[in-house]
Amino acid sequence: MGRFAAFRFTVDPSPSQVVVLARHAGASRFAFNQCLALVKEALDAKRRGGSVVVPWSGFDLINAFNTWKCSAQAGRRFVVDAAGSVEIVATGLSWRAQVCQQVCEEAAVDLGRALTAWADSRQGKRPGRRVGFPTFKRKTRTRPSFRIRCKTTKAGRASIRVGDPTAGPRSVCLPKIGILRVREDTRRLRRMIRTRRAHIRYATVSCRASRWTITVTVEAADLHPARQHPPRPDTDSGGWVGVDRGLAALVVAADTTGRQVLRVDDAPRPLRAALPRLRRLSRQVSRKQRGSRNRSEAVARLARAHHRVANVRRYFLHKVANRLVKTHDRLALENLHTAGLLRNRRLAAAISDAGWADLARIIGYKQRWRGGQATMAPRWYPSTRMCSACRTIGPALPLSVRIFRCDQCGHTADRDVNAAVNLAVWAEQHHAQTRDPEARGPVTNASRGDGSGQRPRAGETSPDDGGTPPPRTPATAGTPEKGGVS
Ligand SMILES: [Zn+2]
Repeated sequence: MGRFAAFRFTVDPSPSQVVVLARHAGASRFAFNQCLALVKEALDAKRRGGSVVVPWSGFDLINAFNTWKCSAQAGRRFVVDAAGSVEIVATGLSWRAQVCQQVCEEAAVDLGRALTAWADSRQGKRPGRRVGFPTFKRKTRTRPSFRIRCKTTKAGRASIRVGDPTAGPRSVCLPKIGILRVREDTRRLRRMIRTRRAHIRYATVSCRASRWTITVTVEAADLHPARQHPPRPDTDSGGWVGVDRGLAALVVAADTTGRQVLRVDDAPRPLRAALPRLRRLSRQVSRKQRGSRNRSEAVARLARAHHRVANVRRYFLHKVANRLVKTHDRLALENLHTAGLLRNRRLAAAISDAGWADLARIIGYKQRWRGGQATMAPRWYPSTRMCSACRTIGPALPLSVRIFRCDQCGHTADRDVNAAVNLAVWAEQHHAQTRDPEARGPVTNASRGDGSGQRPRAGETSPDDGGTPPPRTPATAGTPEKGGVS
């Protein structure tokens, strides 16, 4: 156990369920904001010299919120008796019984994490971009979302159930909300739960582009040994495959001998393909009157188009990553300075469309699941300029030059293959450093870096989504991570 995987399903809610889901999402946002207000109040009081305890951890915040929600500040009633004396009765938060209480708790936990991230970032304990102090979540800007923890009764009945016998296989049962029908088959997840290879930890319900989805996060057993790479002895430094990410070809992989093992030329560029439509839709938005119903409908259309772009891109990245991690146990990538490259406005759109940073992150965790290794060459390693035959470092190549020619030895190779070979060679030379004595097993740091500020998240999709069909969607639909398809 210890491998987190997520299964995402599209919810098919009834009109009354949409209200319930929106209410829970609102409660989650409210609890986050209220907790943040409590923190800020306490900080202010402390600054004025009071001896106040500032609720900081998720645990403290839950307690602070629970105390607050029953207090007169959250809701009160003035009772006047016949004699005219006024009494204030604390009623607490009036709607608190209408939502699942864990939604508020999880929101408090989220705020606790945000505060820790801010503090760590300030003290330099956290890599990546600087993290700001948490801000209030605005109703109009926040994506509606809430999370519920799975609790198990003493009788062994879980509060989150997938495919409950009373509700049918295509359903997820949540506490206080009830049965949510989902569009996809849940068979694979149900089988994993039945055979005790997966335990449900959380369910996150969120609304993106006017579509509700539920993501069931499970703690799953390790992949079957047959699907993992055989372990290599520590002394074995071979078998590295360099992966060069580029624009002309999304991925070119080659081993140290110069053999090209994978080339992905036909990557979809969903953003470029969708741009005319996106331009038209955003024009429509800007022509509608602010605050009007027509405008919100136009905004929804635009959001769906953007969502589809993201879906197409992510689906393809998973496919490429699966092809790499299934066939090679040792992958070497380059730590690209994506944020810096994005400043080039001629390339920015194309680079964003390629999704390099996400590809590295996906390769990182998929490789970890399979017991393989993924490592990153440092940002300034001259993989493109170096000759893969004689190791001479030449001048920088403009992007238009697709063939690498060495001035020293006359070696010629495809530009991307040359870079990939250099990455593989680097990994072989620095093999000793890619092993971390503290990590249990091979170290994988492919998900670090890349300047995007994105943190590696455990378990992004089902363990193996290579065989799933592409998102069969008109512009409105979009569920590429077909969680349950087997
Ligand atoms: Zn050379």
